[in-house]
Amino acid sequence: MTKDILEKGAIIQRDKETFAIAPHIPGGIIDPAGLRKIADVAEKYHAKVLKITSAQRIAIVGIPPEDIDNAWLDLGMKPGAAIGLCVRSVKICPGTTFCKRGQQDSVGVGLKLDAKYHGMELPWKFKIGVSGCGNSCAEPAVKDLGLIGTSKGWKILVGGCSGLKPMIGQVLAENLSDDEAMNLVEKVINYYKAHAKKQRLGEFIDEIGFDKFKAEVV
Ligand code: SF4
Repeated sequence: MTKDILEKGAIIQRDKETFAIAPHIPGGIIDPAGLRKIADVAEKYHAKVLKITSAQRIAIVGIPPEDIDNAWLDLGMKPGAAIGLCVRSVKICPGTTFCKRGQQDSVGVGLKLDAKYHGMELPWKFKIGVSGCGNSCAEPAVKDLGLIGTSKGWKILVGGCSGLKPMIGQVLAENLSDDEAMNLVEKVINYYKAHAKKQRLGEFIDEIGFDKFKAEVV
């Protein structure tokens, strides 16, 4: 077996024999019991290592294919959306919940976005970053959709990406309340879903032109 198993969220490893699974941890925020459970499952199925990922997951790496189903059962989780053409991740910084520099509630808004969009099927893979201030610790400028907290509200960037063809997101709107930001995110995602071909949001925006895109969604 040498391929990812999409429906099981299982990613083939370099040894071409074992898989990684990546339990979904919204915002990378987990309590000690949750962390212990992941460690217990990793130990039970003889994982080679746990890897903290850039999408704020903890991947259990190196489990044999026959143990994948039981590992998910023991975790008590459905396979997350670490792979596939969908909203892969909502990366969230500590914001006003934990960080002294926070200017907006990135944890509150980010978790709402995660609950609503994580795993949603879209024309291509899609990443969201939510940062509580301009320091941009969740890398919103290189996400398909980025939110940055300022003293006046949320700034929204679209079309960033850190993949093979890196792109910096463009500012779509500024000074938005939490609700206004959520509404605009919904419009962006709906428009992308309805009109894009198999392409990332930034490529779609380049194709139709930023001004047209902005006029359609704002
Ligand atoms: S982006 Fe700002 S609020 Fe968020 S963790 Fe970094 S410094 Fe703190």
